[in-house]
Amino acid sequence: MYVLACENDNMANINILRQDGENGIVCIFHFFMLAVDHLYNTKGNHRMKIAIWGTGNIGKYVYQKIVNNEKYIVSYFVDSNEVLWGTQISGVKVISPKQLENIFTEELSFVLVAFSKGVSIYRRLLNMNISKFGIIDECVYSSKLELERDLCQDKNILWSDTVDKPLLWHLETNVVDNCNLNCRGCSHFSNIYGHRDKVPFDIFCRDLQKIADNIEIYSFLLLGGEPLLEDKINDYMRTARKILPRTIIQITTNGLLIPKQTKEFFECCRENDIRIIISAYKPTLRLKDKIIEILEENQISYIIRENREEFSKNIDLSGMADQDLAVRQCRESGCHFFRYGKLYKCPFEALANKLFEHYNLDIRFRGGVDIYDDKLDWNMLVDALSNEPIDACRYCGIEEKVEWCVANPPALEDWVVKMK
Ligand code: SF4
Ligand code: SF4
Repeated sequence: MYVLACENDNMANINILRQDGENGIVCIFHFFMLAVDHLYNTKGNHRMKIAIWGTGNIGKYVYQKIVNNEKYIVSYFVDSNEVLWGTQISGVKVISPKQLENIFTEELSFVLVAFSKGVSIYRRLLNMNISKFGIIDECVYSSKLELERDLCQDKNILWSDTVDKPLLWHLETNVVDNCNLNCRGCSHFSNIYGHRDKVPFDIFCRDLQKIADNIEIYSFLLLGGEPLLEDKINDYMRTARKILPRTIIQITTNGLLIPKQTKEFFECCRENDIRIIISAYKPTLRLKDKIIEILEENQISYIIRENREEFSKNIDLSGMADQDLAVRQCRESGCHFFRYGKLYKCPFEALANKLFEHYNLDIRFRGGVDIYDDKLDWNMLVDALSNEPIDACRYCGIEEKVEWCVANPPALEDWVVKMK
């Protein structure tokens, strides 16, 4: 009789084998093969057992990209939705976060987080004592990218064991404040900013460096206004990449100036790994084929966001909106913004005074956190930015949909749903 005891569930199926006459040779051989397979498949050996957290399109796409990778075996899917617990996807069991917590140390090498805004569970995974996890950039799914054979080398995955500061999933700022399109109800109030209004470049650099010294930033967005109106846009991109060597960096543009960009601009995007996100409003759609042709010819990573026929407005000047409801329904949730030495929960908090001043309203926001305050606790700041409502939320009412159009000059009603 051969007895093999092992805590790992791979071995549970082969814990007792009998040597019985002629069959014994077969059994020994079978045992040998299973043992080899076990050694080959378990943690620390050639194939690593991993779990994918996320059972939606992104999780399934990542699974398809890994299933034939000889370095890994996807042992589980994980999902917070209890309806899915115990079900299977492509023969792989879906378990709960609690089950993951219980089996991780014994069974798994790491967890891959594969759902939109997966970085939102970063703190939760740390609290669950998941010692290693990687957060996949959702562009892997949206742009149908391949994954590196060695996932630890994949630049679209942020690994928890490389992060030694508080992690903020998203940060953004305006490169210039005005725009060449002037959409009605622009959430950055671009159509009431003057020509070439902007934060000076040296202040942008100093603020970004200060934040990056204290926070790990997962995703950084250069926007406006229209960022391609800035002559020195290449300097912004180079500086952002130098300060944030492993952050996902993107520019959001309405795309109208893409056909006018130089070879140097596209080279700069490529060399600094900057992705271009095009918000395809009606005028952009007319140029869409041309824009795509240019971007592809220059081998630029890009995303085109269509369905921009509708805008929404929600400013409630009474300041009596339900803050908690506003945060739950917030369309700028997570769009943390910096400007002139302050970090804000959202662009509305950072920029709305421009609207109030322009229309002589007696409202002023005094929020934002001074990033040069020596006593600033950056851990607490990251938590507060992510989780707590701010005073400005009292001015975010119920959204009303409006048809997209240009508004130049604009009117207060373009933004406001309720007057004082
Ligand atoms: S394209 Fe429209 S929404 Fe975007 S910054 Fe310009 S005016 Fe605002
Ligand atoms: S003020 Fe609050 S509800 Fe309004 S956009 Fe900012 S975070 Fe969202």
